[in-house]
Amino acid sequence: MNTQPSVRALHDHLLTPNYAPAQMIPVRGEGVRVWDQAGRAYWDITSGIAVTALGHAHPAMIEALTKQAHLLWHVSGWFSNEPLVALAQTLIDNTFADRAFFCNSGAEANEAALKLARRYAFEKVGEQKNKIVSTFHAFHGRTLFTVTAGGTEKYKHGFGPLPQGIQHVTYNDIAALETAIDDNTCAFIIEPIQGEGGVCSATREYLQAARSLCDKHDVLFILDEVQTGVGRTGSLYNYMQKGITPDILTTAKGLGGGFPIAAMLTTNKLAEVLSLGSHGTTYGGNPLACAVAKTVIDIVNSPEILENVKARHAQFKAGLRAIGDKLGCFTEVRGEGLLMAAELTGPLKDQALALMRKGEEHGVLFLMAGPNVMRFAPALNIKEDELTEALKAIEVTLEAALKN
Ligand code: PLP
Repeated sequence: MNTQPSVRALHDHLLTPNYAPAQMIPVRGEGVRVWDQAGRAYWDITSGIAVTALGHAHPAMIEALTKQAHLLWHVSGWFSNEPLVALAQTLIDNTFADRAFFCNSGAEANEAALKLARRYAFEKVGEQKNKIVSTFHAFHGRTLFTVTAGGTEKYKHGFGPLPQGIQHVTYNDIAALETAIDDNTCAFIIEPIQGEGGVCSATREYLQAARSLCDKHDVLFILDEVQTGVGRTGSLYNYMQKGITPDILTTAKGLGGGFPIAAMLTTNKLAEVLSLGSHGTTYGGNPLACAVAKTVIDIVNSPEILENVKARHAQFKAGLRAIGDKLGCFTEVRGEGLLMAAELTGPLKDQALALMRKGEEHGVLFLMAGPNVMRFAPALNIKEDELTEALKAIEVTLEAALKN
């Protein structure tokens, strides 16, 4: 008899208790499937929270990583490196940006964006122009600055004193924004779709009104595309579908396809205030991360992948709606591209976490976005038949939960 404690049991003894992971332990992944320690297969409709944009173990990513691993792993900001410059060039060629700053996580990219906005206003206008306007239910990361900019009270609880000068407004409320943004505002930060906040899209009208207000009051528009970026909604970045251009864009998650990397993209005009030594991070621009990210962007930013996102969106939406019609368990199916959500009702109201666990029993992994929202973010290259099978497993999961 095996008397060794399981990996899952050890987890609870060895790790800080701020996560409650699934009982199954993934050990291997390929495309949109992962296998656990017992060799059982699951449809991965999470992509590790919208990270593994090209699925697990993509051959081109493995090649990029191993090729770079044989050349050079790390050099620090005291040196440039080839993958770093190549990735910056690719991002700049394909977005509004003239300049890139690389770091390791979405929170750090947003931290850099907020610091840049404060610094820019400080240098161009003065210290009084320091107010940051954000939205309720926003999620921008877990550093103290980004958690304060975020719109969820419980994530700030007990961590005070918090950074000052951040005001929250209701998402999609133009009148509230008109009142909040003034000449002492240095930045407006927003997700084009609130991912953690329930997969709620900002309307085009709202984003365009925000852009005009920012222009009127000389406020920097920071677009947090950590979750929506890198093809997730059918264009390289979501702003390209919304008729606006931000001053600063943050990107992470899908950028490395599973390798930790993030970037803050901006213009020449703003970048110049980040003078020598004003900001930095040890791993920013790490050659391994940059080599992988360049491969991800090159593959994602192609008609093949972006068209697949649009086609699979239509299939996903229709599939979820059909499930909702049959089982009467959803009030709404929403989302853009392959960031989808279903809002629960009836006996399944507020059961998103229990459903995630039930999904594991039925061989499908998905996410939640608050207690009442099922969230789905499969790899962007998921095939039609794979999505059909995953939708079947989601339906079986919901049926089983309704029988309980
Ligand atoms: N911004 C958004 C929109 C996110 O969804 C997330 C993570 O979920 C973050 C920022 C934080 O990114 P990270 O966890 O990589 O710090």
